[in-house]
Amino acid sequence: MEEQFEYSEKVMDHFRNPRNVGQIKDPDGIGRVGNPVCGDLMEIQIKVENNILRDVKFKTFGCGSAIATSSMITEMAIGKTLEEALKITRGEVAEELGGLPPIKMHCSNLAADALHAAIKDYMAHKEEKEKIEAQKYDFDVIIVGGGPGGLTTGILCAYRGLKTAIFEASNWGGILSWLCPNKMIENFPGLCEKSTCTDLVNSWMNEARKLKVELKKERVNDITSDKKIIAESGEYKGKIIVLATGSSPAPGGIKGEEKFKNERGVYYYVRNPGNFTGKRVIIVGSGNSAVDAALSLADTADLITIACKNEELRSVPNKIERLKAIDRVKVLYNTEVLEISGTDKVEKVLMKDLKEDENIQQVVDSVVLAVGLTPNTEIFKNLGLEMDDKGYIKTDKTQKTNIDGIYAVGDIASDLQLVVIAVSNGATVAHNAYIELRKPYWR
Ligand SMILES: Cc1cc2nc3c(=O)[nH]c(=O)nc-3n(C[C@H](O)[C@H](O)[C@H](O)COP(=O)(O)OP(=O)(O)OC[C@H]3O[C@@H](n4cnc5c(N)ncnc54)[C@H](O)[C@@H]3O)c2cc1C
Repeated sequence: MEEQFEYSEKVMDHFRNPRNVGQIKDPDGIGRVGNPVCGDLMEIQIKVENNILRDVKFKTFGCGSAIATSSMITEMAIGKTLEEALKITRGEVAEELGGLPPIKMHCSNLAADALHAAIKDYMAHKEEKEKIEAQKYDFDVIIVGGGPGGLTTGILCAYRGLKTAIFEASNWGGILSWLCPNKMIENFPGLCEKSTCTDLVNSWMNEARKLKVELKKERVNDITSDKKIIAESGEYKGKIIVLATGSSPAPGGIKGEEKFKNERGVYYYVRNPGNFTGKRVIIVGSGNSAVDAALSLADTADLITIACKNEELRSVPNKIERLKAIDRVKVLYNTEVLEISGTDKVEKVLMKDLKEDENIQQVVDSVVLAVGLTPNTEIFKNLGLEMDDKGYIKTDKTQKTNIDGIYAVGDIASDLQLVVIAVSNGATVAHNAYIELRKPYWR
C-alpha cells in the first residue's frame, strides 16, 4: 500500500515556488551532500562579505521535501553571520517549514549539512588565501618616522595584533628628543608637569618593545604606490604604510643665516641651554616655540631679546606671564631681523622696526630661530600624494591619504603641531588599519 504524506502549507509553498535556486558567480564556498538511501543530492553555494552571508543559492536533485528544505535554509541563512548560520540545526529547518513527515526528516538534515559544509569550505579557503597573501608582505603596517605620531601609531597597531615595523632615520621620539629633550611637558593631559620629553619618549619606546614592534633605525629613501618602502637595508612591503615623518625647523631666510649655522652662533630652537651661559641671545619668532626658547634660557643667558614681527606674542597666557617675570627678557614687537653678521661667529644683528620704519643694530652672541616648522615631505615627491597649499598631506577623517592603503599622521598631516594631535591621529589609524586588515565581523 502507498504511504500517505501530510505536507504543511509552507512545505508546499517552498516546493512550488523555491527561493534562491541556481548558482552564484564565483562562490566563496560550496557544500555538496547526498543521501545514499533515497538518492537525494544537494548543493549549496554561498557568497560572504565581512563575515556575513550575503547570498545563498541551491541546486537539488531530489524530492519535493528536499527542494522545500533547501529553499527554506537559504532564506534562514541569508544575512546571518557565519557563526549564526553554523548554529542552524537540522531540526530548525523542519520546524520553520511547519514540520516534515518523519520519513522525510533526512531532507532537512541534508539542507543543514550542505549549508554547514559550504561555510566550512569557505573558512578553509579563506585561511589558505590569507596564508598565501601574508607571505607576500613583510609587515601588516610599516610606519615611516619614529616621532610621537609614528611611535604611538606603532604601539596601538601592535596592541591590536598587527605585525608592525617603524623606521626612524635619526632620533627615536622625533623633534622633541632632538630639540628639547629636557623640556617639561605642559599640554599632554595626564602628564602635565610630570614628565620631560625624554621621559615620555622612553615610556613609548618601552611599550613599543614590549609589544614587539620592530624598531628599525634607518632612513627610508623612497615609497612606492604599491606600498613598498625602500630603506637603507633593503625593500620592505607592508599592507598598510603610515607616513609620520613630521617636520623640521623652518629656515628664517635671513641674510647671513647660512654662514653662521652649525655652531657658529645661529641655532634652531634651544637644544642645550648650558651652551648659552653668559651670552646675549636674540630669539626670532612670535609663537609658543619662541617663548619656550626664552623661558629655557632664563637661568643661563645674560640678555634675551625676542624679535617678534607681530603686535603681540602668540603664546598661551601662562607662558607670557612667566616671561614677563624675567627681567633679562626684552620683547621687541613689530620687529624683523634683516641680517646676521660677524667675522667667524655671530656678532651683530640688523633689525627693522616695522612701525617706525627704522633700522636698529644690536650686538649679540647667538641667534635662535624659532620661526616655525616645515613638513618633511620630500621623500614622497614621486608618490602623487595630495597636499594642501602649505605642503601638508591631505587626509580624510580616518587619516587616509588619496592613495589606497597609505595613511599620514602628526605634523606632516596637520598645521596644528601638537603631541596630543599626533597621538590621536595614531589611535585613529590603528583602529582603521585593524578594520581594513582583519575585517572583524562587527564591521
Ligand atoms: C621646540 C619645540 C617644542 C615643542 N613643544 C611642544 C610641547 O610642549 N607640546 C606639544 O604638544 N608639542 C610640542 N611641539 C610640537 C611637537 O613636537 C610635534 O607636534 C610632534 O613632535 C609631532 O610628532 P610627529 O611624530 O608628527 O613628528 P616628529 O616629532 O617630527 O617626528 C618625525 C620623525 O620622522 C623621522 N623621519 C623623517 N624622515 C624620515 C625618513 N625618510 N625615514 C625615516 N625616518 C624619518 C624624523 O627623524 C623624526 O624623528 C614642539 C615642537 C618644537 C619644535
